[in-house]
Amino acid sequence: MRPKNRIDHFLPVRFSNGSLVKQFSKPCLKCGQMLHAREMHGIARLLDDHLALAAIAHCPACHGQFGISCVIDRDKRVRRVSLPAWLFMIYLRALPVQAGEQAAHEQAVAEVAQAQRREQEQAVRPVAVEYPRADTAIGRYADKPIPAYIVVHGAEVPFDRVEPDGRVTDGEYLLDGCFVYKAAQS
Ligand SMILES: [Zn+2]
Repeated sequence: MRPKNRIDHFLPVRFSNGSLVKQFSKPCLKCGQMLHAREMHGIARLLDDHLALAAIAHCPACHGQFGISCVIDRDKRVRRVSLPAWLFMIYLRALPVQAGEQAAHEQAVAEVAQAQRREQEQAVRPVAVEYPRADTAIGRYADKPIPAYIVVHGAEVPFDRVEPDGRVTDGEYLLDGCFVYKAAQS
């Protein structure tokens, strides 16, 4: 039997007590490389308050493979199940779908996606600030005109320099990802 379902497709899963299992990883039995859910094929089922997992892990480093049979409880403790992975897999595949099982996965997927979106929005926000800019350009850089100044809180802040990697310090403002504006010292 050739397992074809990647374990990461079953994650994340939210338990009824609120615990969220986002990832599952285990070191390779042969070489010790940390293997993640995407390197395991099998099945994961939420049964009451346990996530039962039966899989074959394939190590990309040493090309070894080994079976995993375990149960993750709602406190995220992992316990081994003393069945070979292939047998546990057959057992888990044969179990009828439990009430709320699919919802527990879909809801967790939506929550994680939303959290990621929020993180991304926060990460780009400082760069996305748009300041009013001067119509006059004092030069060009990377095919973009360099406005002579920008307006911050009603005051003109003159162009200072180009920073190709967009690094600024306190009191400096970044425009278009590379133009730095700095208030003149009084
Ligand atoms: Zn390995």
